[in-house]
Amino acid sequence: MTKKACQHKKMADLESNDCRWPIGDPRHDDFHFCGAPQAVGHPYCTEHWNQAFVPSKARQLPGRAAFNLAFPRAA
Ligand SMILES: [Zn+2]
Repeated sequence: MTKKACQHKKMADLESNDCRWPIGDPRHDDFHFCGAPQAVGHPYCTEHWNQAFVPSKARQLPGRAAFNLAFPRAA
């Protein structure tokens, strides 16, 4: 699907130092793992280790102000 530097490894192909970032839907045949070399001390490669922290930070950005805008009469 996406053309990246990933190795597209299946679970059985993963080596102990391969990136374990899951790609795709586990229920689908094209589900695989990144398989790129892990960053030292991490279960993921550098790219995915960085990605792992982005969603949680972004999720907190809207915060209470956005909630009050969306539901002004909720309180
Ligand atoms: Zn990776």
